[in-house]
Amino acid sequence: MAKSFTAWREEKKAERKSRGELFLADWLSKNKAGDAEVREVIRLCEEYRSPGREDRGLDHFDYIEAIDDIMRVMREGIDEYSGNRLFDMLSYADLKRVRQCLSCNRWLFALDPRQRHCTPKCRDSFRMNTAKYRERKKEHMRRLRRIDKERRARQSALHESGSPKRG
Ligand SMILES: [Zn+2]
Repeated sequence: MAKSFTAWREEKKAERKSRGELFLADWLSKNKAGDAEVREVIRLCEEYRSPGREDRGLDHFDYIEAIDDIMRVMREGIDEYSGNRLFDMLSYADLKRVRQCLSCNRWLFALDPRQRHCTPKCRDSFRMNTAKYRERKKEHMRRLRRIDKERRARQSALHESGSPKRG
């Protein structure tokens, strides 16, 4: 049975989406992109997808040119490979998955939606630091509780003896 046109189109779109996302993930992992650069890439994708682009007099290639000024992936001459992937990225990449590593702040594209770290190394060191931090905090809270308890004990002892001294 022949596939419906809609199913075919959805399949193509999913294919292009994952190609564009892999391309962006790869670029972010190989380049230490700064905040300004990443925000501009996101902004260009959003603007590209927004309605009324044609009214602003910008065509596809203006966006490819602008995004390549940041990413610098196009080789000299005609680079259809990079050009197509930039189109895929501009059109479909899930921008909510562009995020910063919780451990080292490096930008990444989360191929898995749960991914929060750029490398397994960063994930492990984050977990280790979190565990140590929680341990220190627990110790700190234990001390605060003890101090508070002692203060209450002193106060009630003063009340029982009648005249609390001020000063
Ligand atoms: Zn990291």
